[in-house]
Amino acid sequence: MKIAQLVRPNILSLKPYSSARDEFPGTEGVFLDANENPYGVLNRYPDPHQAILKQTIANEKNLSVNQIMIGNGSDEIIDLAFRIFCEPGKDKVLVCSPTYGMYRITADINNVEVVDIPLNEDFQLNTQLLLEVAERESVKIVFLCSPNNPTGNLLKDIDIVLRQFEGIVFVDEAYIDFCSQKSLVEKLDEFPNLIVSQTFSKARGLANARVGMAFGAPEIIEFFNRVKPPYNVSGINQKAAVDALKDREGFKRNLYSILSEREKVIEALKKLRVIKKIFPTEANFVLVQCMHAGDVYQRLIEKKVIVRNRSTQIPDTLRISIGTPEENRLLIKSLKEL
Ligand SMILES: *Cc1c(COP(=O)(O)O)cnc(C)c1O
Repeated sequence: MKIAQLVRPNILSLKPYSSARDEFPGTEGVFLDANENPYGVLNRYPDPHQAILKQTIANEKNLSVNQIMIGNGSDEIIDLAFRIFCEPGKDKVLVCSPTYGMYRITADINNVEVVDIPLNEDFQLNTQLLLEVAERESVKIVFLCSPNNPTGNLLKDIDIVLRQFEGIVFVDEAYIDFCSQKSLVEKLDEFPNLIVSQTFSKARGLANARVGMAFGAPEIIEFFNRVKPPYNVSGINQKAAVDALKDREGFKRNLYSILSEREKVIEALKKLRVIKKIFPTEANFVLVQCMHAGDVYQRLIEKKVIVRNRSTQIPDTLRISIGTPEENRLLIKSLKEL
C-alpha cells in the first residue's frame, strides 16, 4: 500500500513551517530569535515537537516516537486527517451512524462528502456493504469509533475492514481505557493504513487540557506533523499530560471507581420503570431508551441533573455519563421521583 497515493498533492509537496526552535534546537544561550517577551513565566513558546510527552507515551505504549502525533484534542486530529487526505469538493469519507458527530461536522467544514453506512440493530458494522460502497465510491477515509459514542459498544469487524479496504481506516479509541478489549495500537505494524486516535479527555481526566494522540505508521505521522500548526499544544498542557501518565495510581483508582459505579448505575437503572432498555456499554457512559425521553430529559434538568438527549440519533434515548458515587445517587434518586 502506498500512503503517498492517498495524500492530497498539495500536502505531498508542502514544505512545512520551520520554527525558531527548529532552526536552533539547543537549550543554552540568550534567546533573541522568536520575538518572545524576555519577562514572565509563560513567555517562551512550547516545544513544537512535544518531545517529552511523546517519549513518555512511547514508553507507556511500547511505540516509537515517530509513530505518535499530538493534537489539540482528538478533534484537531480528525480535522488534520481531512486536510491531509481529502480534496475539498472531490473526495469522500465513510461513517457508520449513529456515531460521534465530529466526523460529519469536520467533513462539512472541509467540504468533503460523507457516505453513511448505518450500523445494524446491534450497533455493529454492515461490513460487506461498507466494503462494497467504500470501494465503489473511492472513499479516502473510513471512520470507526470503538467503543462507539453514543452507543457504548465495541465494533467487532474492524480487522476485516483494515484487511480489505484500500484507503485510510481511522479508528477512534477515545473510550478504550474503559473497555475489555486491547487497543489496535498493537497492530500498527501489521496495517500501514491504520490511524488510531486516543485522548487525554476521558479516562485520563484532562478534558480541559485538550490533548489528543494519533498513532500510525511513521509515514502517516510525518504528514500530520507537517500539517499541524507548530505550537498546537501549550506547554502547560503538555506537562499536564506527562504528569497524568506518571500518576499510575491515581489513574487506576479513578478508572476502578468509574467502572464499578457504571455497574451500580446499570443495576439501579434496571429497577426503574421509566427505563425501557439499557444498551450494553464498554465506555464511561450508558445509553438508555425510555418512555418520552424528551420529557425525562427536561424533568431531570429541573432537578439539576443534566444528561445528553440522543433521541435525534436513536429514538427516545438518553446518554448518561458515569459521575462520582454522589452524582450517580442523585441521578437515580431523581429518576425515581419522576
Ligand atoms: C470525547 C470524544 C473524543 C475526545 O475528543 P477530544 O477533542 O480529544 O476531547 C473523541 N472521540 C470521541 C468519539 C469522543 O466521544
